[in-house]
Amino acid sequence: MAGAHWYPAYVGLGSNLQGPARQLENSFELLDAIPDTRLILRSSLYRSAPFGGIEQPDFVNAVAALLTRLSAMELLAELQGIERARGRAQGGVRWGPRVLDLDLLVYSSQEIDDPRLSVPHPGIAERNFVLLPLAEVAPDLTVPGLGRVASIAVNFSEPGISLIA
Ligand code: AMP
Repeated sequence: MAGAHWYPAYVGLGSNLQGPARQLENSFELLDAIPDTRLILRSSLYRSAPFGGIEQPDFVNAVAALLTRLSAMELLAELQGIERARGRAQGGVRWGPRVLDLDLLVYSSQEIDDPRLSVPHPGIAERNFVLLPLAEVAPDLTVPGLGRVASIAVNFSEPGISLIA
């Protein structure tokens, strides 16, 4: 059940199958349609080389900034519902190809360490395909335990990512 207060939340989007750019465009609309939640900002789309050593198409990535009255766990359930609706089977190959991946990157100033949900998302600091779009929509955001987004992103010179739209 939605609480009385609105909290900022940042979601990372990724796709490398079935028209990735279109998948992300659709996903922004689905994020805006989550109950008690508003899509406030969407980043540009970025193309990034896959990592993890699996031969697969490039990914398209982006970040959405939301305001929500849902708890972090309720929001995660909504994100997983969207992934399922877009045809993402649960339990695919780690780092493997995917129609849609939605990660809850940051939820307000909360730090959550639960088997189902780690917030801030543990991959933020080492993934340029998360940090660059996050820096576009929220440069001054302080990620709990990590620091200011723009300050982390500035140290990031890893190649393999480009702005596409
Ligand atoms: P993945 O295949 O990388 O999308 O991982 C999905 C699993 O990660 C799900 O079982 C989630 O419960 C779990 N998970 C833990 N923390 C997060 C998070 N911050 N955002 C999304 N999924 C998460």
